[in-house]
Amino acid sequence: MQSMETLIARLRKYMPNADFSLLLKAYEFAAGMHRGQHRNSGEPFIIHPLEVAYILADMDLDLETVIAGILHDVIEDTSSSYEQIKAEFGDEIAALVEGVTKLDQIQFITREEQQVENLRKMFLAMAKDIRVVLIKLADRLHNMRTLKSMNSEKQLLKARETLEVYAPLAHRLGIFSIKWELEDQALRHLDSVAYHEISESIRRKKAERDEYIEKIKQNLAEKLADLNISAQIEGRAKHFYSIFKKMYAQDKTIDEIYDLFAVRIIVDTVNDCYAALGMVHEQYKPIPGRFKDYIAMPKQNMYQSLHTTVIGPEGSPFEIQIRTEQMHKTAEYGIAAHWKYKESKSLKDDADLKFAWVRQLLEIQKDLHDSEDFISALKVDLFADEVFVFTPRGDVINLPVGSTPIDFAFAIHSAVGYRMIGAKVNKKIAPLDYKLETGDIVDILTSSTIHGPKRDWLKIAKTSQAKSKINTWFRRENRTENIQRGKDQIERELKKQGATAAELFKPEFTDVALRRYGFNSLDDMYAAIGFGGLTAQKLVTRLKDLAGEEAKALLPPELPSQTGAPKTIAGGIEVKGIDNCLVRISRCCTPLPGDKIVGFITRGRGVSVHRADCVNVRADKMDEEGKNRLIECSWVGGGANTYLSELAVEASDRTGILADITNVVSESKIRLHALNARTTRERTAFIQITLELSDTKQLDMVIKKLHNIPGIYKVTRSQQ
Ligand code: MN
Repeated sequence: MQSMETLIARLRKYMPNADFSLLLKAYEFAAGMHRGQHRNSGEPFIIHPLEVAYILADMDLDLETVIAGILHDVIEDTSSSYEQIKAEFGDEIAALVEGVTKLDQIQFITREEQQVENLRKMFLAMAKDIRVVLIKLADRLHNMRTLKSMNSEKQLLKARETLEVYAPLAHRLGIFSIKWELEDQALRHLDSVAYHEISESIRRKKAERDEYIEKIKQNLAEKLADLNISAQIEGRAKHFYSIFKKMYAQDKTIDEIYDLFAVRIIVDTVNDCYAALGMVHEQYKPIPGRFKDYIAMPKQNMYQSLHTTVIGPEGSPFEIQIRTEQMHKTAEYGIAAHWKYKESKSLKDDADLKFAWVRQLLEIQKDLHDSEDFISALKVDLFADEVFVFTPRGDVINLPVGSTPIDFAFAIHSAVGYRMIGAKVNKKIAPLDYKLETGDIVDILTSSTIHGPKRDWLKIAKTSQAKSKINTWFRRENRTENIQRGKDQIERELKKQGATAAELFKPEFTDVALRRYGFNSLDDMYAAIGFGGLTAQKLVTRLKDLAGEEAKALLPPELPSQTGAPKTIAGGIEVKGIDNCLVRISRCCTPLPGDKIVGFITRGRGVSVHRADCVNVRADKMDEEGKNRLIECSWVGGGANTYLSELAVEASDRTGILADITNVVSESKIRLHALNARTTRERTAFIQITLELSDTKQLDMVIKKLHNIPGIYKVTRSQQ
């Protein structure tokens, strides 16, 4: 257990000449404020902030951060206020404490992956100062260490949240020492059986393994000395959670996992790294494909090291990591390594220098493949171009800085925007031009009768999404007016070009023009001209061209004609009342013979056929115009055709599962068109299979067979 003495002793290690009077004052202050409060374990509360401060000191962080660590719970949990902290301890420390307090208010209730990702970003965005995140991580680490005293429901909740939000954050910031401990602590509560199995078996083999590692270390030390390379060599067991993931992913018992430990060589220079690597490969046979050069190609969180796996003296493989002292610090403390205490105050106060490392980080990451996420996460923190706000239900909506409740409403749904009559922000009525801030809870007030947007909303809205939806409204709203205006413009243009409506506005010409410009009716086209979407000049010129040529020759054969005999077959589908039209099977729901289907007359691309229950053609999701374009369809031709159909499979991420799936498909004499798989951190595999099928009977049969494969949880037809 830490005390003020041990804390100061730890701080003296890296700031021997510092003045600790403010730290002592903070301790007195926090102890006074928390007096009488106890943790669930029964201990006095002050133990918690003291431990948090020690974790921060252990990362060699600056004194302000450590003091803020001592004070981190006083605003949240005592009668103390931001103003009071500011008066007693100054701006910087008060801002850090307040930052931590704000983060405490985010509730991680949702489990949907996209939402979790947004929450992580929001976390960084709200923190503003990365040291706030470091304090929060230290806070969570100590809470995880002492989670045992919570009730079991709370334990699970906290452990899951730690695994989903905090450990990935620590990973992103490159703070592996904290990441690993958070993961191991979380595992202990989420799967205590696995945790104890792993810890027990590692403990059991400890003596044996220590001896083995010792032998390797000695050999390496001798050889390095021969090369005149000074080095520290460490051997350590891998952390539990990474062993656990391996066991799960590869479906192995702990005895089958060979690289339970790793050896680390820390040298002075980059050249020494490569020299040491050469020596290692001479001593032990490397396993092909396992060498990774993260020095030449650093990871996105700045991690640098050489990794190789070699075969040890008794034939068992183990991993060796080689890096410099500097790289080692970055690996352990990540971003925190750049916040280390600096004696020179002026250097630390210089904002440019303060963020120099971030730029450097972004430079390194620019070229890397999967770094986009991380860069944008840092961007919201440092360049603050986005805000994250909540719906009353707790979903996070991501908007550009400067967005207003109007943007929020249209981001949710255009119907919400069109019915909007006002907004509440954090339960208070807010003006529509209120600038949303990260963390705001926004509730849009709507009316059951559509009021429609106001023209001046166009000036208030920030996002192009909201603006274009508002514009759409006005175009539709003034339709009659626009149609008339469009007709007038055409009239004038005809006169100008010396033509008459009678000669140019014949169906054989106007149909081509409608198709060419993507309109469904003449009125639509007039309206577009009326509001300026198309010029009368362009249309009239086009019609004149058509009239001048053999108009009929220009008509493509698949032009829908509503008159002909009520029947046509295209690819096994009959469209009621339409002859010779282009029929396409829609890709969103991939209907099969046996499914109820419906057609949708597209603009200029024939009829697309959907399952009747496809969300894209559901009557309740469509406006009037859309409903008018639906057309009856049915299957004909009796199994002569095959169609692509997509299945979504959720399964355990075990070895061989893909082979089992492809076997079932080929045994069923079905052609496999495509297969896509991805896995989640929770070790679930999501597999998309595209099959060539003749009807729903065949589909049901293959779904049934897939269900019988062990490890498959769910098989559904995809619907995008
Ligand atoms: Mn706390």
